[in-house]
Amino acid sequence: MLLKSKVSIIRCNDYDPAGVKRSIKEALDLIGGINTFVKKGQKVLIKPNLLSARLPEEAVDTHPEFVRAVASLVKAAGAIPAIGDSPGSFFTIKSIDEVYEKSGVKKVADEEGIELLRFDKALHIDGYHIASAVKEYDLIINLPKLKTHTLAILTGAIKNTYGLVPGLSKVQHHKDAPHMKDFSRVIVDIFSITRPGLTIMDGIVGMDKNGPAAGRIRNIGLILAGADAVSVDAVFADIAGLDYSNNLVLKEATERGLGKGRLEDIDVVGVGLGPARIKDFKLPQTALAYKFPAAIAKYIARLIDFRPVIDGARCKKCNICKTACPNDAITINKNISKIDEIKCIRCFCCHEVCPHDCIYIKKNFLTSLMWR
Ligand code: SF4
Ligand code: SF4
Repeated sequence: MLLKSKVSIIRCNDYDPAGVKRSIKEALDLIGGINTFVKKGQKVLIKPNLLSARLPEEAVDTHPEFVRAVASLVKAAGAIPAIGDSPGSFFTIKSIDEVYEKSGVKKVADEEGIELLRFDKALHIDGYHIASAVKEYDLIINLPKLKTHTLAILTGAIKNTYGLVPGLSKVQHHKDAPHMKDFSRVIVDIFSITRPGLTIMDGIVGMDKNGPAAGRIRNIGLILAGADAVSVDAVFADIAGLDYSNNLVLKEATERGLGKGRLEDIDVVGVGLGPARIKDFKLPQTALAYKFPAAIAKYIARLIDFRPVIDGARCKKCNICKTACPNDAITINKNISKIDEIKCIRCFCCHEVCPHDCIYIKKNFLTSLMWR
């Protein structure tokens, strides 16, 4: 009989530093304890989800107290932590510094004496640019944030490793794989190269509806932990209400044998799946296509259209969306802020990176009818 993987779920209602650390420790104790993963003298890379320069209370990035608690447990285990990410809008050292500063992670790093990495060196592995830190550290601890995602539907443990691709290379991958099915393969390729040894998901305050940056902030009060990031995502999908068959990233990773993505292969400990299921968790509008039976979904999908639109009156002309766009579909100048509907490949990177929530998702008439 195949050994099941283990995922723990623990309740934790706020970011009180002592409470977060206690709850993370409890989550880890249920899967073997921190010393199962972290060995004395190891160099440990802590990889939060720092999507963009947002305040902790905006629930876009992994909370700084969550990062602090994990770093402190790593230190207590006798290892040396460093923190690193390449956010969605990371194109210069200045912009990554802004993300570290505003997210509160720099303050934590300064106070705890932990090195902050900028992923300014990359290796070329299997056709991808990967931060060289991935090979320089003994262990990666993956700290995804529990959120929805307009393109991937959910963004969790597997997708968080996409931040180990430095800067503009991420844009190129979107361009090479514009459709979600292809992009799922890219995400899973990167996951297979980077393979975190431990995943701890920050689901204390998460996000539903049109995440990962402009959704609804939800007090969820959960921490998920596991050695197998694929299993953590399977548990996350179940409590968020996304079927395995509609979770393309999870399916791809499971079918490639990179982890256990089927609930029957996972031993859930702690709170348990039933009580952990999140009430009234709303998937993004773009999940509409998945509401139909597979036999008709492919015909319906052709009629459904969502596209990003810039709210010109609110646009701050920062150009972050323009730089992130893989298909050069965005014009920003003093007179207009506009997306070329024909050139747009609906990857929603612009929606993901706009730090001012100025990009909204527009539905065509038929989609609006169905959505209702
Ligand atoms: S405009 Fe936005 S959704 Fe369209 S291709 Fe560019 S980044 Fe992707
Ligand atoms: S839409 Fe957002 S990201 Fe794009 S230029 Fe305007 S404010 Fe910046």
